[in-house]
Amino acid sequence: MKKVVKFGGSSLANAEQFEKVGNIIRAEEGRRYVVPSAPGRRYTNDTKVTDLLYECYHKAEEDQNFEKVLKNIRGRYDEIIQGLGLDLNLDDEFDTIRDNFKNKIGVDYAASRGEYLNGIVMANYLGFDFVDAAEVVVFDMNGEFNAKATDKKMSARLNALEHAVIPGFYGAKEDGTITTFSRGGSDITGSLVAKAVHADLYENWTDVCGFLMADPRIIKDPVTINTITYREMRELSYMGATVLHEDAIFPLKKEGIPINVRNTNDPENPGTMVVESTCNKPRYVITGIGGKKGFVSVTIEKAMMNSECGFGRKVLQVFEECGLTFEHTPSGIDTFSVFCNQKEFEKKEQQIIAGLHRSVQPDLIELDSDLALIAIVGRGMRRTRGTAGRIFAALAKAHVNVKMIDQGSSELNIIIGVENHDFETALNAIYDVFVTGQL
Ligand code: ASP
Repeated sequence: MKKVVKFGGSSLANAEQFEKVGNIIRAEEGRRYVVPSAPGRRYTNDTKVTDLLYECYHKAEEDQNFEKVLKNIRGRYDEIIQGLGLDLNLDDEFDTIRDNFKNKIGVDYAASRGEYLNGIVMANYLGFDFVDAAEVVVFDMNGEFNAKATDKKMSARLNALEHAVIPGFYGAKEDGTITTFSRGGSDITGSLVAKAVHADLYENWTDVCGFLMADPRIIKDPVTINTITYREMRELSYMGATVLHEDAIFPLKKEGIPINVRNTNDPENPGTMVVESTCNKPRYVITGIGGKKGFVSVTIEKAMMNSECGFGRKVLQVFEECGLTFEHTPSGIDTFSVFCNQKEFEKKEQQIIAGLHRSVQPDLIELDSDLALIAIVGRGMRRTRGTAGRIFAALAKAHVNVKMIDQGSSELNIIIGVENHDFETALNAIYDVFVTGQL
């Protein structure tokens, strides 16, 4: 069994966490390729090394003295090195970093040093080879990630090594300029490594026991999901559930390599398996619930709209020309609604209204603000009768008025719109009817 193991920042925040990670890696011979993040928070109000690096570089760019912050960053690594009793000195590395900061080499370079240095420490601690991600993760000159070139370089390099540590989060352009993924991007590096070495499993170790069925800030002690498909996960992360970086799915999807999300602080817990497809029946009809507040609906009414060719296109073109993306477009015989982010909409409100009048001459435009969208997601809903009925009965009982309903034809999700102030009540009602059975 060949495994790629990625550890998040909180799993590597100090020497004690490193030791837990070391024990996990040594517990299985198959854990051969390791992708570390930068050291994260050690306690609630602590600062992640990546954020310290951004701060430090910002000072360098403004020609301010950045020594204090750099010393602080150095301290984080020295604390780990000493705590683990390693024979490793980062003097040369920090001299180079200081010089490069003074030369204003670039913010991505600055941010990437968190993972780079942690990779060096990790490789030294484990006795594994260190492979600089700049040599195997390729970005085009315009900053776009190049998947094909990366896979080629990475496979050639890693398949020749028995064990390796590859820092997460960054790569380089052809001219050597360091470029990072977006925040949380070490998850993506882990996926790329798993694909390149044809891993049997990609273990993503973090500080939670996997995906929860709902947001724990809203639902008390939600159940952990045992198995979730990539598609279900995508639906839920789109609606705000973030355990894995969204882009981490794409490299693995086609390969069918599963991801196992695990907790470094509870290594016995099996966590959540994220898979391409499975015949494993979910424990409940729904796999999870997600949602977001802050939407507005723009409803356009016009008699005989349904017989007007191109009506929908013209409406959406107005949104496109204002640079607004939309979430949903529920429609009726003579109505067409567009749901979009309220904050973004407010900036362009009058422009959109004028644009709609010009382009489709509506009888009426109605705006409804402060709406929330809730996605009820689950492969178990397919061919299960009564799911929608249960949802709406639960919402009615909880006195929640439903403003919009949208069921994807894949039967993988049902999206409902409610008022912002009903959001928490609605989530609890839905969770209870499917999971706790209290409704
Ligand atoms: N260290 C980076 C961040 O804080 C990347 C990562 O942790 O995945 O976003």
